[in-house]
Amino acid sequence: MTAGDYDLIVVGGGIMGASAALRASHGGMRVKLLEALEIGSGASGVNAGTLSLQIKRVKLMPYALAGHALWERAGDAVGYRRTGGLTLAFTDQEAELLEHRMTLKKEAGAPIDFVGKNFIREKAPALTDAVVAASWCESDGYANSSLTGVYYRALLREAGVDYSEFSPVTGIDPSRDGGFSVQTGSARIAGKRLLLASGFGLQETMAMLGVDIPVRVRINTVSVTERGPKLLDCIVGHATGLLTMKQKTNGTVLIGGGWQGVRDAETGRGEVRADTLNPNLQLAQYAAPGLSSFRLVRTWTGFEANVSDFYPLAGRLPGYDNAFVLGCVRGGYTIGPYIGQLMGDLILGRVPEKPLFDPERLIDTTYATSGERLGT
Ligand SMILES: Cc1cc2nc3c(=O)[nH]c(=O)nc-3n(C[C@H](O)[C@H](O)[C@H](O)COP(=O)(O)OP(=O)(O)OC[C@H]3O[C@@H](n4cnc5c(N)ncnc54)[C@H](O)[C@@H]3O)c2cc1C
Repeated sequence: MTAGDYDLIVVGGGIMGASAALRASHGGMRVKLLEALEIGSGASGVNAGTLSLQIKRVKLMPYALAGHALWERAGDAVGYRRTGGLTLAFTDQEAELLEHRMTLKKEAGAPIDFVGKNFIREKAPALTDAVVAASWCESDGYANSSLTGVYYRALLREAGVDYSEFSPVTGIDPSRDGGFSVQTGSARIAGKRLLLASGFGLQETMAMLGVDIPVRVRINTVSVTERGPKLLDCIVGHATGLLTMKQKTNGTVLIGGGWQGVRDAETGRGEVRADTLNPNLQLAQYAAPGLSSFRLVRTWTGFEANVSDFYPLAGRLPGYDNAFVLGCVRGGYTIGPYIGQLMGDLILGRVPEKPLFDPERLIDTTYATSGERLGT
């Protein structure tokens, strides 16, 4: 196969890029995927793995329900467990917030119920008695995000997607025929269509084509304890969203909640901050006091991209007919496998079964009206 034979070049091998590449390939396209490091080594491989409908945005609920079902189908290959999930409120103010948020999510289709102390005692006896209100979602659970790379690499291989790892894209040029020429290392690869799915690198890859959409990067932290005695059978969250906690079958407890680390300006690496780690762990211990006898083994960071309105970038790249962008999906581990399929459908020229999130909304109107339309 010569480079110019590709129907689609995908930049980025996280859940978004890999799932869209698979859909396009299954639809008959010849697909090339270029990943700067390893498949699933970005946010998709270091996240907390929480598949909770209780922490999804209301408008994204239909996508989260469908994504959740795809992970459930993947089963043991991604360490999927359906455990149910409790979200807790410890004050009257938090209880009000919980009721408001969960009522909206329930109306959007999530199977959420409000539950009392007896229910909590039965489901999770290790939780504190200080719970004022709680909600329960039967279908919540988790998967093991460190299996993302192994899982998608096998699927890509099986589907015949030509993927290259350790192949950062450093330049992209539109070609006269409406396609694209992509630079990686010393190679130039030509394709008729292009999908940018480079996660925290999206602002940079969009800029290669002259599109300026600010992408913010959150430095989320996740911690894991040593193996300990059985404490929790279900995932546990907090009304504010500042805690997610689950005990894996091996006895370790994974603690997250979107607490922020920092990015070292020189190395570009994420670093943990004691002043955010401590309150995260304190909240976890307050919820499950028995956790105080578990020692922490590791805390790490991962880069989560988002745009100003916190909705996905999912659609045509503004100004181009044959270039597409997918990323910045809040709760993207849960939603990714499904929204990737929708994006694959759009690229195949099909009408996706659910609407996507047109990036054009984030373009300054002066650009949108005066910008030259490139490609055919
Ligand atoms: C710590 C953390 C915890 C999270 N917890 C949860 C959770 O519990 N539940 C949930 O639903 N969601 C969670 N998320 C969100 C979820 O992980 C992300 O939304 C999702 O993984 C994003 O997938 P992606 O494919 O867009 O990005 P990524 O997985 O980051 O993939 C982008 C890829 O593009 C590559 N790339 C970048 N630039 C280039 C380039 N120039 N050339 C080639 N390749 C390039 C990168 O190397 C990377 O592999 C969490 C995120 C983080 C960071």
